[in-house]
Amino acid sequence: MRSARSIQIRGVVQGVGFRPFVYRLACARSLGGWIFNNHEGVEIFAEGMENDLDEFVQSLRVSPPPAAVIARMEVRPTEPQGLHAFVIRESDRQELPSARISPDLPVCDECLRELFDRSDRRYGYPYINCTNCGPRYSVVQRLPYDRQNTTMAAWALDPYCEEQYRDPGNRRFHAQPVACAGCGPGYYLSWPERPETDRGDNAIARAAQLLREGRIVAVKGLGGYHLACDAANETAVGQLRQRKFRKEKPFALMVPNLAIAEQLAHLNSASIELLASAARPIVLARSKVGFAGVAPENDDLGIMLPYTPLHHLLFAAGAPEVLVMTSANRSSEPIAYEDDEALQHLTGIADAFLVGERPIARRIEDSIARQGVLGPVILRRARGYAPGAVAVFPVDQPVLALGADLKNTITLVVGGQAFGSQHIGDLEHYQSFHAFEQTIDDLLAMYELKPDRLVITHDAHPEYRSTIFAQGIAAAQRLPVQHHRAHVASVLAERGEWERRVIGVSLDGTGYGDDGAIWGCEFFAGSLCGGFERVAHLLPACLPGGDSAARFPVQAAAGFLAGLGDLPDFWAAPFHFPARFADAAQLVRKNVRTFPTTSAGRLFDTAAALLGFTRQTSFEGQPAIWLEHLARRAEKAEPYAFPFAADILDFRPALRAMIRDRLQGRAISQIARAFQCGLAHGVSRACVDLADRYRADTVVFSGGVFQNEMLLTDLKLVMFGSGLQLWTNHVVPPNDGGISLGQAAVAATKFVGGDASQAISG
Ligand code: ZN
Ligand code: FE
Repeated sequence: MRSARSIQIRGVVQGVGFRPFVYRLACARSLGGWIFNNHEGVEIFAEGMENDLDEFVQSLRVSPPPAAVIARMEVRPTEPQGLHAFVIRESDRQELPSARISPDLPVCDECLRELFDRSDRRYGYPYINCTNCGPRYSVVQRLPYDRQNTTMAAWALDPYCEEQYRDPGNRRFHAQPVACAGCGPGYYLSWPERPETDRGDNAIARAAQLLREGRIVAVKGLGGYHLACDAANETAVGQLRQRKFRKEKPFALMVPNLAIAEQLAHLNSASIELLASAARPIVLARSKVGFAGVAPENDDLGIMLPYTPLHHLLFAAGAPEVLVMTSANRSSEPIAYEDDEALQHLTGIADAFLVGERPIARRIEDSIARQGVLGPVILRRARGYAPGAVAVFPVDQPVLALGADLKNTITLVVGGQAFGSQHIGDLEHYQSFHAFEQTIDDLLAMYELKPDRLVITHDAHPEYRSTIFAQGIAAAQRLPVQHHRAHVASVLAERGEWERRVIGVSLDGTGYGDDGAIWGCEFFAGSLCGGFERVAHLLPACLPGGDSAARFPVQAAAGFLAGLGDLPDFWAAPFHFPARFADAAQLVRKNVRTFPTTSAGRLFDTAAALLGFTRQTSFEGQPAIWLEHLARRAEKAEPYAFPFAADILDFRPALRAMIRDRLQGRAISQIARAFQCGLAHGVSRACVDLADRYRADTVVFSGGVFQNEMLLTDLKLVMFGSGLQLWTNHVVPPNDGGISLGQAAVAATKFVGGDASQAISG
């Protein structure tokens, strides 16, 4: 007796070898039927003997291909049709595509084996890939994911690749970017100093040699160009900093394998897991060795493993075993990804260009992650993660969230799933803003959504570029969401906690408050669906120069110290404040261009200035990172007082104590430690008090300041025994990279239960 099943699967099931996997499974059990990619994922019809069908379904559930993620699987019994062969049908292109495209994948072990096997046709071929590995999002131009819709469309398959591509039993069956040296793109080395161009193996060998000689080489990777040099060569690293106008921001490193990574940094098993995970992020960990100039005044190293075949070939060709691999750009611009753009922008920085001929469809930076005290922290969500689903939403209404202007990301909610874009960057850069528009177009095109069906949500800051952009879209509705509520909401959205009452704490740099002030140390009570009421905050200080103060710690200090009363001479030792401090203090006295603020980021700036960080910052958050690393060097220190009373967290006693200890010559690491620890105690007391009064058993932490690992560690320690659960971000970043998810969640709550009539108007 034959039976049949109709099976519908949703999730990451396209472009991850799912169809050939199902084909082989079906053939092994002599099932008849078919499979094809449809708008929701894959659809399968299978018929055969009852127990064969059961085993088939069971295998689908328990052992799908490594890169596949099954979000939902529906199995229905149906009538057999007398089919005895199993076939893979062409993609169905008729309906709305809501199936996801996979993020890019690192080269798999089987491909690696072939890459270094002299007898293999793809020996040494830098674009080797198969259905289990290789580029996806970085090459796809539109859905469905078929070769003609990728940047590989220009290369026709030769008979060898064609045969594998058509053979359902082969690992490269329908591997869209499949190629070999005979038919596909290659790499060449262009060397402005010299007329010749090296190709293929020679190009890679020459690039490795240049790196050994201390030269800087621009290397085209998966989502853009890197600038590479020998991390152990101080001169090369110094030159790279100078040419790139990157004064102090740490450089990421790439090493050939885990063994070397472990020689460089303290890696626990969770960090190793992150490092070797399919996303292959840059992982931050405490360094064991110092490389001059790689991460100045920073105890951490950012390390990643090779993820493209080219990286493996470079190391095999003798490249130094610790390479600086930093996004190719000038200063803080976004990563270069087009060949002309790279040549134009990087001439004068790179000595040579290792150029791959396969075009990159979109710019995707490396992701950055860390194994934190409360679990993994994604600091930048991009290559390997994007454009994955970050949360499940209980709504049908499509929502487009535009994020914040710094560390921008986009979130699109469609079909009950929230898809997070790659990290786009700071929208003040022309190229980032362009990428912002392109990513929105991309996402809307992939899901065939028209703006007039969308709810658009954006930051409440009236002058953000993203806000102004939102106002120009003819959307169904527009909804501004306050910055710090979005931070808190992002944590709850990740967890699908729509009703849970929490105390939400956002410690952050800058965000536009309900009252127009610059917020950044805010306590909320409430839930996603019920809304968040601001119930406490930092004692307001004033900030001369407003948002621009973020670049000058002494400018923030002028504001935060103004309310302290009796002040020492900050021009003299040990403070040595520069003239900018006096100018800023003048603004405060005259109350000119001075704004009220509760920003924790600016409080950290003030503390850093008191401890000696009086120069201009060269990247966002630098003073706080500097202070954290300083504090790590100290043994335990008695925490400074941060009293919490009348819903106000008062920073003044701590700053007074810092000044006193500084004047008495106490070690600055000790003072930094006492400040951080004091803040943790203050926040903890506030949380315990508020949780009791507002009847919540969970505290949510989000905002840029929670990238501070030591602060989280102190909080966990101090709050142990309070009975409160501590939640923070694990899927999207706690910094402004997580804002779009939070905005989407707040907007979506207006549609929970499907009643759109009570929806907000923009
Ligand atoms: Zn592979
Ligand atoms: Fe923020």
